[in-house]
This record gives sequence, structure tokens and C-alpha cells, in this order.
Amino acid sequence: MTSLSFARRENSSGIYVTGKTFYVKEALKLVGARWEPPCWVIPFEADSPEFRTGLIEKANAEIKAERSAERAKRAYESSSEGRAKAHAEWEAFVIEALKKKTLTGEYHYLCCEKVSKPEWRGGRPRTSCPIHGFCINGSRYVGD
Ligand SMILES: [Zn+2]
Repeated sequence: MTSLSFARRENSSGIYVTGKTFYVKEALKLVGARWEPPCWVIPFEADSPEFRTGLIEKANAEIKAERSAERAKRAYESSSEGRAKAHAEWEAFVIEALKKKTLTGEYHYLCCEKVSKPEWRGGRPRTSCPIHGFCINGSRYVGD
């Protein structure tokens, strides 16, 4: 897999770089590259095999780091500690949301402090609650 591609085009003022350029944007700017949507164009004088190799290695390293950070995040989220934290955040959110609901009617789909996170189905929030059962739009679900 190549993260970046380089191309020389007719009448161009530089080398076109495409691919996962987001990860090397700053390195491109440093050599005076210009953004010509959807490509970066690096000046001919900045181009060399070493520059290209270095740029590809940097992009690959950034992509790899991002993937391992995502994996670590997912592992944390599925751990008991991560789940407990998410639950605590949800409870804190619900308390605030219920205050707003009283004042403005916003968060109408939250019935009480015991409510679960809503799953949105067909644009409608479906929550479950040990007190109120299944709720849609904040009222008890009785089926359509
Ligand atoms: Zn409830």
C-alpha cells in the first residue's frame, strides 16, 4: 500500500502529490508546496528520491500511530473502567439534559435519570429505562 503518489504533469510548475497528504501537510508546506485542490504541488527543486521516501515514511508512521491510538481507545472503551467512565458521563449528561427539558422541552426523549442512551431508529430516539420500559420520544413505547 502506497500512502502517497507523485506525478509529473505536462506544463506543471511542480510535482503533484496525491493520496494521504493530510498526514504530511506541514512537511509539504515546509518545502514550499502549494495546495491546488485536490493535489499538493511541490516545487521541482524540492523533489528528490530521498524527499519522496521520507514523506512516504512520515505518512505511513502517522497512519500507523493513528490506528494504534484508535485500537487503544477501543480497548479502553470496552474495558470495565472505560464502560464505567462512559456510564458516569452519560448519567451526568442526563441530569443536565433533564434540567433543560423542564425549562425548554429540549431532550424530550429522556424520561428520567435511569434512562439509557438513545438508539436512533428511523430518526426517532429509542431508549430503555428500568422504570419506564421502552420509550420513544420520551413516552412509553406501546408499539406502532
Ligand atoms: Zn425513565
